[in-house]
Amino acid sequence: MNRIASEKVDFARAALIHSPDLDKYHYPPSCPLDSQRAGKARRIIKEMGLQDGPQRREVAPLPATRDAMETFHDGRYLDILAQAGRGRWSAEGQGMGLGTEDCPVWVGLYDYASLACGASLKAAELILAGEASVAFNPSGGYHHAHRSEAAGFCYINDVAVACMHLARAGKRVLYLDVDAHHGDGVQEAFYDRKDVMTISFHQDGRTLFPGTGFEDEIGIGEGVGYTVNVPLPMGTYDQAYIKAFDAISLPLIGKFDPDVIAMELGMDALAGDPLTQLELTNNTHEHVIRSVMAFAKPILAVGGGGYHVENTVRSWALAWGVMSNHREDSTLDRLRDIPAAPQANLRARVNADLHETIEKVQANVFPHHGL
Ligand SMILES: [Zn+2]
Repeated sequence: MNRIASEKVDFARAALIHSPDLDKYHYPPSCPLDSQRAGKARRIIKEMGLQDGPQRREVAPLPATRDAMETFHDGRYLDILAQAGRGRWSAEGQGMGLGTEDCPVWVGLYDYASLACGASLKAAELILAGEASVAFNPSGGYHHAHRSEAAGFCYINDVAVACMHLARAGKRVLYLDVDAHHGDGVQEAFYDRKDVMTISFHQDGRTLFPGTGFEDEIGIGEGVGYTVNVPLPMGTYDQAYIKAFDAISLPLIGKFDPDVIAMELGMDALAGDPLTQLELTNNTHEHVIRSVMAFAKPILAVGGGGYHVENTVRSWALAWGVMSNHREDSTLDRLRDIPAAPQANLRARVNADLHETIEKVQANVFPHHGL
């Protein structure tokens, strides 16, 4: 069924959202998030010819408007954030998470965050206008920003705003978050809604920031069953992840039947990330992306975490190559990780933990969808 449908979506109609203006901004050096990763991924994409072809293009964003950002964020929070972006610290801002180690106050932060948000909005607009089948903003994915609170290197929740834009246009949106951290801000935005389903795979909140995203967080009111959380044990490796992903996401996406699929492609679940304890290779991300493409829906993709810079940018280039339907598979080989072979005792521990998680998530969520 999906194969026939996929012939109707030409994923080579792909837009990379970027502009040199995004490269002008730097988080303070004390902050592990490197905002230059998007530009670095773009360079690899260009150099490898992954941008070639008549239908692949680069589109420059404009900053998100205040109105657009207010579809999720509180107005007062945006005022204080704009002041922080001029370097002004305030006690009120501190109460909103600003001026912390994770979300420092720095000159330019508001301009950067609103431009990164505008880039995700541009991706949504291209998809709505039918001008692209896939649109990727590697400068996006700031999924921890709350309605009126900055958190985890995130000030403006570009991807929640982009999903809101799609939903306001009447689209059913499936949001899939494979960052190592729980997509808490996006969950918050849609917790009581059934037109946007959020699915987050992340390292167990008992062992990693932000400490949420458990199996029993499934939405409220009309939204019950439309928030899905899959906490992963430390050491989760490719085969175990893929088993959980296939068992949970594929039936739900099929049943939900979205108009658009939004993906947060944080690359901090890769082995070697200095902030997390998952052990994936980017072959898992490729599996996830190809599985999502099989549903033959337009894809809005954003970046996210990823603190091993080289691994992150290489994997975003791979993600772009896969999403924009490059047929010459051997070109992409240069970007793929070597599959890893975890030790038997690790496999046994992870498998036992994950088996239990899969059963819990299915029991909590599937009955709401007749599965
Ligand atoms: Zn993350």
